[in-house]
Amino acid sequence: MSDKIRVTVWGEYRHELKNEAVKKIYPDGMHTVIANGLARNAGIEVRTAILDEPEHGLTEEVLAETDVLTWWGHTAHGEVQDEIVERVRKHILEGMGLIVLHSGHFSKIFRSMMGTNCSLKWREVAEKERLWNLEPGHPITEGIGEYFEIPNTEMYGERFDIPTPDKLIFVSWFEGGEVFRSGCCWERGHGRIFYFRPGHETYPIFYNEQVMKIITNAVRWAKPRIRQPHTCPCVKAIETIPPKEVDFGKAGVQQDVKGA
Ligand code: ZN
Repeated sequence: MSDKIRVTVWGEYRHELKNEAVKKIYPDGMHTVIANGLARNAGIEVRTAILDEPEHGLTEEVLAETDVLTWWGHTAHGEVQDEIVERVRKHILEGMGLIVLHSGHFSKIFRSMMGTNCSLKWREVAEKERLWNLEPGHPITEGIGEYFEIPNTEMYGERFDIPTPDKLIFVSWFEGGEVFRSGCCWERGHGRIFYFRPGHETYPIFYNEQVMKIITNAVRWAKPRIRQPHTCPCVKAIETIPPKEVDFGKAGVQQDVKGA
């Protein structure tokens, strides 16, 4: 087994085929640019998967060999099969990392992991974004200064309908006045989840060195510490429990006692 972090970069890959402006920036798809950016690091092994592949490229075998999954989707969230979403969710709860990029905020998998609508405000007038680094000691912000700027981007504004992050890493300020929680960490089951805001399709954002550095740092942070299948066993006591002079009866599903 490889010591490298095995990343699957998932891309919806629709805008790049249909929209000339997007095709010009990402002729081989955003997923390819993200994958190439990650693959520059010796410790990271990358594969890609797209919506239009069978099972969206996310077979049981692929997910079992994935330490961290990155997700970019926008126009076709509804086409992602519920069965595949459930499969991805199971792997996250067992320890696989998930990095959700930009408009992935409305993906089925992110909404299902958050349990909220994940809605937000938006505007597309090529305004400036300043991302403030709130946690300079966090592994995801390593090598990033106090703040960095993206000169032209789409705006995302609060309120972002997410559960309060376990750790808020970046807050964005936009030229038009809004702010946004643009880098957020959660744990779900054994899995780590990072939401990162930049990545609108009509701007060359995944060529930005700082953006790719943060995604790379996030991959290292989100790699599994444990990969543990979900169980809910009825177990034998470790200690001897003296007989009790009580009889409350039993309810619930009869299960085999593990090790009995
Ligand atoms: Zn966008």
